[in-house]
Amino acid sequence: MADRDGLIWLDGEMVPWREAKVHVLTHTLHYGMGCFEGVRAYQTNEGPAIFRLQDHTQRLQRSAHILNMKLPYSAETLNEAQRLVVRENGLASAYIRPMAFLGSEGMGLRADNLNVHVTVAAWEWPSYMAPEAREQGIRIRTSSYTRHHVNITMCKAKANGNYINSMLALNEAMTCGYDEALLLDNEGYVAEGSGENLFIVSDGVLYTPELTSCLDGITRRTILAFAEELSIPVKEKRITRDEVYIADEAFFTGTAAEVLPIRELDNRQIGEGCRGPITKRFQQMYFEAVEGLRDQNREWLTLASD
Ligand code: PMP
Repeated sequence: MADRDGLIWLDGEMVPWREAKVHVLTHTLHYGMGCFEGVRAYQTNEGPAIFRLQDHTQRLQRSAHILNMKLPYSAETLNEAQRLVVRENGLASAYIRPMAFLGSEGMGLRADNLNVHVTVAAWEWPSYMAPEAREQGIRIRTSSYTRHHVNITMCKAKANGNYINSMLALNEAMTCGYDEALLLDNEGYVAEGSGENLFIVSDGVLYTPELTSCLDGITRRTILAFAEELSIPVKEKRITRDEVYIADEAFFTGTAAEVLPIRELDNRQIGEGCRGPITKRFQQMYFEAVEGLRDQNREWLTLASD
């Protein structure tokens, strides 16, 4: 990742990719107090466009607020930085990674003498899972790791340190031969994947866990808007793993994973064991929206060009 051409936005400057470095005593590297976003730009007829940029920037600001980190840049500056890294790196489509982190000015947990730094990088990252997964669906496993409890860490913040939990769960699932993990909350109800929100469809109703211990996903919000448009009834509620086993359809959503069908949980086939019709419809709507092919969703797109 580090050894390549290109430019990265770091504290207000465009820095050559190979020179965008931090010191080994960077505070966030030691304790994980930081927050980040995962944003995507897609190719549209008018050039690369960033999907729901303002929503991602707002979530970054909220994450920082929850963690009590003072972001030194306005939403406008952060939005411009994200457009700039797509543009200046000549990317037609991109994964964009803004991150706020604490510097190397000190090492104590008090962290009262530290500067908040911000970086934004962008690169091409075509498909999170194998491309055929979009049609065939993935196999997942209930994790032995519990999703964060709301009083252990802050689930509404997309905080760097939270992802130890995600990585442990994903690694366990992959080691056991599955594509992704399904994490339950501390009471045993379904929370989310390692980096995705979960939806199920049963008897024509769309269900998704309440936001208590899962991230307020921007793709999740997008699917809820599509469901409203299609007049599909939605219930945000506690979901048990056996409700997923007997669902007609299940899928994950996320900026990286997009809309990803789930064909199996814990070796139980879900529905017909392939992408269901409602999942397919949401997938189509999602790709049309991100590619600028849905007029009613144009406000979600911000062109990277000037
Ligand atoms: N949950 C977690 C834990 C995540 O990391 C992500 C990815 N940001 C999501 C859900 C999905 O969020 P979004 O749709 O905003 O990418």
